[in-house]
Amino acid sequence: MVNLHPFRSPDRLISSRLTQIVSVINRFRHRFGIPSTVLSICLGIATLLTVLSTPAQAVQVQAQPTNPQLGDTITVLIQTEGTTSEPPSVTLNQNTYPAFSLGANRYRALVPTTPLDRPGGINLQVNAGGSTETIALQLRDRSFPTQSLWISGAGSLGTDHEFDRVDAFKQLVTPEKYWNGAFLRPSPGEITTVYGVRRYYNGEFAQDYFHRGVDYAAPTGDPIVAPAAGRVALVGTVQEGFELHGNTIGIDHGQGVVSIFLHLSRIDVQEGDFVQPGQRIGAVGATGGVTGPHLHWGLYVHGQSVDPVPWRYEAIE
Ligand SMILES: [Zn+2]
Repeated sequence: MVNLHPFRSPDRLISSRLTQIVSVINRFRHRFGIPSTVLSICLGIATLLTVLSTPAQAVQVQAQPTNPQLGDTITVLIQTEGTTSEPPSVTLNQNTYPAFSLGANRYRALVPTTPLDRPGGINLQVNAGGSTETIALQLRDRSFPTQSLWISGAGSLGTDHEFDRVDAFKQLVTPEKYWNGAFLRPSPGEITTVYGVRRYYNGEFAQDYFHRGVDYAAPTGDPIVAPAAGRVALVGTVQEGFELHGNTIGIDHGQGVVSIFLHLSRIDVQEGDFVQPGQRIGAVGATGGVTGPHLHWGLYVHGQSVDPVPWRYEAIE
């Protein structure tokens, strides 16, 4: 538990307690002839003690992990005292993330972080029941592997059609939660490029680039399985213009969490299909802008590419 914040002071409770205390003090004052200045001091101390000891009618907020690092998904648990007119939300750096009900006045918001975020102190603003409370965390820096590429000419692969469709897919926020527990490995292939790798192009650091996913090396035709349950919300093919991404599948896991699978040789699902964890969805290939067969799996939370590792091993709910 990181924070326990009273959202509003329980005025009525305090005043009824004070009335009791004043009447007790007055009885003593009359019996022993204590001057009223002593009474005032006593009353001041009593007020302070009463305010400090009164159980607050509170919204409780909790962030996990308590020591996040770049690329982590921060889970914010919110418990309100009664039903709020609107579900709570969490704001970080001008972005507001919705919280979804866990039942019984409990809510959960997912806040993505990426290698492009600035490490250091961050303030998560929890908006609930008309009030705002802040959770202060330290976002830890992390050193990502780097790659150096020497390229000639401007890389111009990619069509507006594929970027538009992929962008729209990443923005999906479906109210239902489809995933459950830890995500599965989508391919048995060896991991060749981890999440977050940074690049130098012709010796110059690419400020906006980081590897937005995990690459698994596997031969063309090797099976790809759904890492978690969800609805197939994107199927894109080279034929329709996915020249950079190649044959592509996107799975909506719900509540702003989506997976994308690139460079496939075969697609075994259709848009609208509901898939279960471990269900075969397609096969590894070398379509799109690649030099050899591999699977690229990207995991996005509210449009931001996050590190899938905690999702694989820590079961973010
Ligand atoms: Zn990749």
